[in-house]
Amino acid sequence: MKEVPSDAVTPSHILMLRSGMIRKLASGIYEWLPLGKKALNRVEKVIRDLHDVEGCLEVLLPALLPKSLWEQTGRWGEYGAELMRLKDRQGREFCLAPTHEEAITELAGNYIKSYKDLPKTFYQIQTKYRDEIRPRFGVMRAREFIMKDAYSFDADEQGAGLSYDRMFALYKKICAALSLEAVPVIAKTGLIGGTKSHEFMAPSDEGEEELVYCGCGWGANQELAYSKISSVKEEPLPLEEVSTPGVRTVEEVSAFLKLPAEKFIKTLIYRTADGFACVLVRGDHSADPAKLRSIIGDDARLADEKEIEEITGGPLGFSGPVGLKIKAYADNTIKYGCNMVSGANKKDAHIKNINCPRDFQAEFMNIRTVKAGDPCPECGKPLVVARGIEIGHTFYLGTKYSEKLKASFTDKAGKDLPIVMGCYGIGVSRIVAALISQNHDDKGIIWPRGMAPYQIEIIAASSTGPAMEKAEEIYKALAEKYEVLFDDRDVSAGIKFKDADLIGIPVRIVLGPRGMKTGECEIQSRADGKTEAVKLDKLLEKISDFT
Ligand code: ATP
Ligand code: MG
Repeated sequence: MKEVPSDAVTPSHILMLRSGMIRKLASGIYEWLPLGKKALNRVEKVIRDLHDVEGCLEVLLPALLPKSLWEQTGRWGEYGAELMRLKDRQGREFCLAPTHEEAITELAGNYIKSYKDLPKTFYQIQTKYRDEIRPRFGVMRAREFIMKDAYSFDADEQGAGLSYDRMFALYKKICAALSLEAVPVIAKTGLIGGTKSHEFMAPSDEGEEELVYCGCGWGANQELAYSKISSVKEEPLPLEEVSTPGVRTVEEVSAFLKLPAEKFIKTLIYRTADGFACVLVRGDHSADPAKLRSIIGDDARLADEKEIEEITGGPLGFSGPVGLKIKAYADNTIKYGCNMVSGANKKDAHIKNINCPRDFQAEFMNIRTVKAGDPCPECGKPLVVARGIEIGHTFYLGTKYSEKLKASFTDKAGKDLPIVMGCYGIGVSRIVAALISQNHDDKGIIWPRGMAPYQIEIIAASSTGPAMEKAEEIYKALAEKYEVLFDDRDVSAGIKFKDADLIGIPVRIVLGPRGMKTGECEIQSRADGKTEAVKLDKLLEKISDFT
């Protein structure tokens, strides 16, 4: 595709359209074209093979599921507008499944009867439907997409914990086998539910989420991230009001009082659904919007100047926690501060030497945005902050679904118990895009070896004559051993080279008129541009070094 539509803004989306991997049929609904389907197959195969080796059993469940099943877990109501609902000719209701906890639990419950049938893990690679509010970035956030979803069934919590850990390890192995850089982070559980959960995040500027991670293996999404807090060891001093005429911001007061920003408490007053509340963060920190939302609610907004005057008795810029009569939420770091400074709730005044709980009370929580370089909570080394694409998600479910769907088994003592479950999803189609987002340059895709739609591309510089004939001969010979793409179009060499860069097949064999005279061709590597002249009669031997 030469002219990419303006709604394609991310590199992976643009490259997938330009290289003809996918075509948009409707918003969030894509067709996989030959080159794209090849890449998708590669990803599927890696995932399928490794699940099989792990002893997971492949099934294929219907995408079309009856409402009754979803009513038993209460999710027909809970799921909201993201669930694609439809009726058959008799008026019976169905949904196009966004995930399969209900279906697999109902199925497993019918076959698993005794502790002897456990543990078991089932998986499928299948099309999912979600009516996303904002489908975007091509197959990255689509309304119809391919997911690998797996579900583990165990007799007790300990067994389910082991199954979880095994799947977690399997996901790491899969990412490595896909040549996909991904970090597991602790995550929220959302609509799937359950208690323990990790997301596998692929670092990429295209990512919709911010992730925080460390080389030691610790990681969290920004909405849950925290860092190591060191406490300040000082003698607490008595409170002291200081005159600060006209200085309001942390920078201004910090310069005026000659104290570092970390000594300050920023006091933000919000109007929430339950009345006014204040949020306290250190002067050198900022409150994270997602963390804030989960504390004070989605509808909370900053108080205006008039409201601040009414509540604190002082003007905007001079608020502080001492003497404030509203609910206070403070970031955990403040608990460990000593002799801090904040507004005095009156014009042109601040208070020094604030210490909690002596001078104010608050509920301490994780509120601040973690920044790059902050110390890792596990090992103390500097944390990395990056954008990330969620490519997989693991959940420890417990008995949430098995209880509601009556999936139980008889234990050794003859007692009837609900099966303990976990569920594990990988975005198969999203991974194709994520791989491209991590592997491209301004000319096009650079497929990691092993993940490319084809291993080798053959280009003859002219479309007719001896080079072309030789190219066809080589194609036939190589195709027995490799997956080979032969550009036999009647177009100029320049166009072939440009398209080859765009498509990004790792190894390219080029036959030109000059080489025909010397009996040579060129082997080129897409990743580093390295080129080697090779005698045609040595090509079959040589090419194995490149693939
Ligand atoms: P997101 O937060 O990106 O919406 P999710 O938490 O809703 O993802 P899960 O329900 O955990 O996703 O689904 C498992 C995997 O399926 C995700 O990790 C992701 O890789 C993939 N996935 C989810 N929604 C989509 C979508 N709309 N398009 C493509 N892949 C998706
Ligand atoms: Mg989602």
